[in-house]
Amino acid sequence: MTLLAERLRTVRPSETKAMTARSAELRDQGVDVITLSQGEPDFDTPAAVCEAGIRAIRDGRTKYTAVAGIRPLRQAIRESFARDHGLDYGLDQITVGCGAKQVVFNALFASLDPGDEVMIPTPCWVSYPDMVALAGGKPVLVACDELDGFKLRPEALEAAVTPRTKWLMLNSPCNPTGAVYDRDELLALAEVLRRHAHVYVLSDDINEKLTYGNDFATMAAVAPDLYERTLTVNGVSKADAMTGWRVGYGAGPLALIKAMNLIQGQTSSHTSSISQYAAIEALSGGRDHIDEFARAFRERRDLMVGKLNQAAGLSCRVPKGAFYVFPSCAGVLGKRTPGGKVIETDTDFAMYLLDAFAVAAVPGSGFMASPYIRISYAPSLEDLTRACDRIIAACAALS
Ligand code: PMP
Repeated sequence: MTLLAERLRTVRPSETKAMTARSAELRDQGVDVITLSQGEPDFDTPAAVCEAGIRAIRDGRTKYTAVAGIRPLRQAIRESFARDHGLDYGLDQITVGCGAKQVVFNALFASLDPGDEVMIPTPCWVSYPDMVALAGGKPVLVACDELDGFKLRPEALEAAVTPRTKWLMLNSPCNPTGAVYDRDELLALAEVLRRHAHVYVLSDDINEKLTYGNDFATMAAVAPDLYERTLTVNGVSKADAMTGWRVGYGAGPLALIKAMNLIQGQTSSHTSSISQYAAIEALSGGRDHIDEFARAFRERRDLMVGKLNQAAGLSCRVPKGAFYVFPSCAGVLGKRTPGGKVIETDTDFAMYLLDAFAVAAVPGSGFMASPYIRISYAPSLEDLTRACDRIIAACAALS
């Protein structure tokens, strides 16, 4: 008998975390690595949010909370759904977890029986396929073409549905491509889903606030008849620069939320009480920082796209949202590095960038799409400029 469980056989470590760890190792050795592999804003958490957390500590709000999250936070979440999308969720239809990540995991763990299928449009966030596998389900990857803006087409959705399909994962704005689904595109997908009443929708809206003037739309609001079979997931990590506080939430069908709470009650119990109080301030207090962050990200995005298109062999579209660019690196494949190695895959290219030019980006293979690399433009403008110059030099050095 071996120590580790059979189910771990198919689970890969997160490629973004692996890249970030490797760049940290190099940094420890004194290398000036620029890390563009992590989806983390470089802004500080807004001061008022920090104050709310400090106040919670001073007021002794440091005990266990309700598993689903404290009532005033669920109330703030309820109000934000109503305010931003006209979505009406009861407090018992809302659950708070340790980041959107845990909420997605709880939903899959609560709903998947062995062999149940989850449709994942690719390129996709690194964690979806592995979470599905961990929960005992079967990830079904549905490739989305770059020419379609990396968005799922209704025909592709129709073709991928089987009697075993339980979920369609939707992520807009998308990590890693920055694709944003507009209302009409969601309605076209909804039309297909109406023909398949057994399929649920997990709408991962974590990047909602980063759309740079493009309209954000979410399935439960756009197609009210699908409200009963949609779990809408969101959180404060990205919009409020609170990645380390670990607060995410989900809202959806009562039976599912209850089951997710059951799992959470037997695992983490809940996220930190202090973080929950801080998140109330993030959702209900001043929201000016969101516009400020979006303005800064837009400037960074435009810089990145402009510069990366100057790099020989890269071709970069303008992403509509989130804070990632996802250039194709097809043009560098087959070329030789100054060290004599032929670049055969996007992983080879990402390794070359890291080892020879000290820039950490993530190969597209981690997001189930090749040959691409994902570059986060969440770091500072100064670091991004330096990183792009290195990438341009790295591409120019290939023969
Ligand atoms: N969904 C997507 C698409 C993400 O990119 C991320 C974070 N990288 C998450 C969920 C998880 O967010 P959180 O930090 O709130 O767990």
